[in-house]
Amino acid sequence: MKKIILAFTIGLITLNKIMAQELPKAGVILAANTKNVKIYTVVAPPEMFSNTTHVIELPHELVLVDGQFFAPYAQQVKALTDSLKKPITRFYISHDHPDHYIGFGDAFPDVPVYALQETKDGIEKEGQQTLEQRQKQFGPIIAKSLNMPSHVQQTGEEIIDGVKFIFEKSLNNEAAVSLIIKLPEVKAYIAQDVVYNKTHLFISGNSDGWRSALRKIENEKKYTLILPGHGVPATRSVLSDDLKYLDFVDQALASSKTKEEYKAKLLAAYPQYGGAHLIDIYLAYYLKKDWGK
Ligand SMILES: [Zn+2]
Repeated sequence: MKKIILAFTIGLITLNKIMAQELPKAGVILAANTKNVKIYTVVAPPEMFSNTTHVIELPHELVLVDGQFFAPYAQQVKALTDSLKKPITRFYISHDHPDHYIGFGDAFPDVPVYALQETKDGIEKEGQQTLEQRQKQFGPIIAKSLNMPSHVQQTGEEIIDGVKFIFEKSLNNEAAVSLIIKLPEVKAYIAQDVVYNKTHLFISGNSDGWRSALRKIENEKKYTLILPGHGVPATRSVLSDDLKYLDFVDQALASSKTKEEYKAKLLAAYPQYGGAHLIDIYLAYYLKKDWGK
């Protein structure tokens, strides 16, 4: 999901309604479970964008991936990590879209934050302003402070607490630059926003690069656990689901005369998907198209 600008009316109305009642809780899924590696995935509810945080429990330490959009879900992550009673040695940010880095500053003010150089630069440039915008927009559900990346992650292999991690850089997918983390020991591919599971994909333009990133995972057949940035942990079938979704988007864009018609086609084809108001956001602000008017 990209940067949502201030006039986020439809989402805001929905959120105000939710906040007036009780905030729905995130789910926690044990995605991998071996002697040396457990992965707990915390998933925000579908109406709150289904953002994920992966808590990787190693023998003596914890490594986290992505920090939520809304602060209460980062607090839920904190309750989980406290219960595991191991230090957090690395907190990774996969890319510089705010739904992955503005949520966790209050819950985890002191953890060392790791990111690719481009992501670190992007957050240093726009992070504070983005946080303040969202505070005005959403109120106390947004964290008060940021914990900015302090460590640059290089690509390549590293052994952390006896477990092999592979770090890669992926370009021009859902984001311009994103970090991919692979853990061969548990066959896990932490794809973050290259993969959305049963959540409407955030379309902001040509998706050829995104398709290439998905096909790259399709070719790495040894990874059977695919961890998305939005939605619950998935099997490999999520890859063809997302590729088909992108094809459907292209057809629907080509055959629709209005934004309303386009959105109706997506909702009819994917009635069970979460994050429907993401479609309104990208149609309003990001996806440029001559609708033939
Ligand atoms: Zn996202």
